[in-house]
Amino acid sequence: MSAMPIDRREVLQLFGLTALGVALGRPSSLLAAARPTGASDLGLFRQSRVMMGGIPVTLTVSAEREVDANRALNAAFAEMERLERLFSIYDSRSELSRLNAEAGKRPVAVGPETLALIRDGLAMTTLTDGGFHLALGPAISLWDVLDHPHVPSDRELEAIRPLIHGGRVQVDASAGKVFLTHTGMKLDPGGIGKGSLTERAKGVLIDHGMRGGLIAAAGDLIVFGRRPDDSPWRIGVHHPRRKDALLATLDLTDTAISTSGDYERFFIKDGVRYHHILDPETLSPARRTRSVTVISPDGARADALATGAFVLGPKRGLDLLHAQNLQGIVIDDQGGLHASPALKEKVSFNL
Ligand code: ADP
Ligand code: MG
Repeated sequence: MSAMPIDRREVLQLFGLTALGVALGRPSSLLAAARPTGASDLGLFRQSRVMMGGIPVTLTVSAEREVDANRALNAAFAEMERLERLFSIYDSRSELSRLNAEAGKRPVAVGPETLALIRDGLAMTTLTDGGFHLALGPAISLWDVLDHPHVPSDRELEAIRPLIHGGRVQVDASAGKVFLTHTGMKLDPGGIGKGSLTERAKGVLIDHGMRGGLIAAAGDLIVFGRRPDDSPWRIGVHHPRRKDALLATLDLTDTAISTSGDYERFFIKDGVRYHHILDPETLSPARRTRSVTVISPDGARADALATGAFVLGPKRGLDLLHAQNLQGIVIDDQGGLHASPALKEKVSFNL
């Protein structure tokens, strides 16, 4: 079967997800991306920036006047960039980097945003039974799939295992301090940070009076309100093996949707494909799944649960989502489809 037809001119390509009907081919500029087709005189306005070490972030809003859209978009990006400066592990001055650098030495004072990220991340580590693991940093650094890929030996992996331990992250919320108790421990925000930044961007856009919007950071998306013509936002979920094909198309509003897949960031060595989502149990790339899409009201949860469910595999992953009253789509390691019953009813899938 081929991809579902795209019924709107414009397509924004993301990692794992595609936003249909919102993009023009000119990133990094603010422009009226579409004129409403209905009677209203609202428009869509968009701005893209590259953030978080190479992730394209695109914000689209539905607003009456370009000047208002511009102000809202700039404020939302400023907020995301502020948070990035706190959370980035590529910036040695960030709060998270300073915390990691003091592992095994002393507790570090962090601000409320970093504290919230760490507490959320630890809660997601528990909720996903360690499928998503905030303290997986040493393994992620060892593999370094994104920058300098390396297949570690079993000995290397076993040596870092004691460092990957949620109980060894001590949070003193009232003092605003966090202590990583063992030298070499490292928190990695990669599986939750994009979701929490997009969530904050949504808050800023709403505070600025935007009636609808789409916030897209690679595979992590949030939509709120409606498009100028009052239609919902149309989101395509990528097929994990057929490039440029869509697995499903969803019409959404007021929700976050995150996809984690093994097909965007990987390397191949001796014929084996190694990707960037690691199973905290094996400390190697998770093998049960090809892609997971999670629909959740909250961006950070969608992001972390997609990563966690990817690791847990189709059965445990979907059970976890259903226990939270959330919906999801899982493609297993054989290409088989597993989806929440409510989605199966209303969405057609192109396998
Ligand atoms: P993407 O970053 O492609 O959207 P994810 O949200 O699934 O995908 O996050 C993957 C990133 O999260 C990795 O690049 C790494 O930094 C980190 N990570 C990898 N495996 C895990 C895991 N099991 N738990 C938590 N974080 C992880
Ligand atoms: Mg994630």
